[in-house]
Amino acid sequence: MVNVRENIARVQERIAAASRRSGRRPEDITLVAVTKTVPVEHIQEAVDCGLRDLGENRVQELLAKQPHLKGVKWHLIGHLQRNKVRQVWDRVTLIHSVDSLELAREIDKRAATAGRRVDILLEVNVAGEESKFGLTPEAVLPLVRDVAGLPGVHICGLMTVAPLVKDPEEVRPVFQRLASLRWEIDALRLPGVDMVYLSMGMTNDFEVAIEAGANMVRIGSAIFGARDYSKNAEVQ
Ligand SMILES: *Cc1c(COP(=O)(O)O)cnc(C)c1O
Repeated sequence: MVNVRENIARVQERIAAASRRSGRRPEDITLVAVTKTVPVEHIQEAVDCGLRDLGENRVQELLAKQPHLKGVKWHLIGHLQRNKVRQVWDRVTLIHSVDSLELAREIDKRAATAGRRVDILLEVNVAGEESKFGLTPEAVLPLVRDVAGLPGVHICGLMTVAPLVKDPEEVRPVFQRLASLRWEIDALRLPGVDMVYLSMGMTNDFEVAIEAGANMVRIGSAIFGARDYSKNAEVQ
């Protein structure tokens, strides 16, 4: 049996220790509980433990779970197709996975028409893995300049998914690269751009990510146990 409460306590202790090692306060780090494939009743346990930020990869799964969980903020952390923007743009707190001008424009179109502004992060494929979505590091600055002028989107920082490795020390340079990109962009002081969040670190590597400057970590299996994709974890 997975003990969600105990797992959360342990994760929070590790986040606190890593934040102190990097000269920051534990409360400066936002823990996003990644709930993909997790049934609503287990997610509710996490919410009852005080977690308020939930992350989903898929639009369909997010929308299906949303009505069942009250008082929470949803983060879209997985790849977003342009044709799904309409369904989700006004139902999330933060979209972590914007990686093209076309996608940013689509979000802008929906939001600006409604007189709103959507908080987004730009996803960067720092290690250049073919299997992953995200911008190359070189493409980030030009995209920031293009997106900065769109009234319906608000760039709030950067996100990455590091390669899965045995020893998280191996991906420290990936996190450091994203952290320095954040400061480079911040120094430009572009209107409509606030480099507040650095979303990096998952179950296997979140301590190293925090040491490298992450202030938003996305953690699934350390909280809810290993995912079982063989079961249908949609809302019952
Ligand atoms: C699944 C997922 C996570 C969480 O992964 P764990 O290893 O279970 O912590 C974080 N970010 C993204 C983008 C994911 O898809």
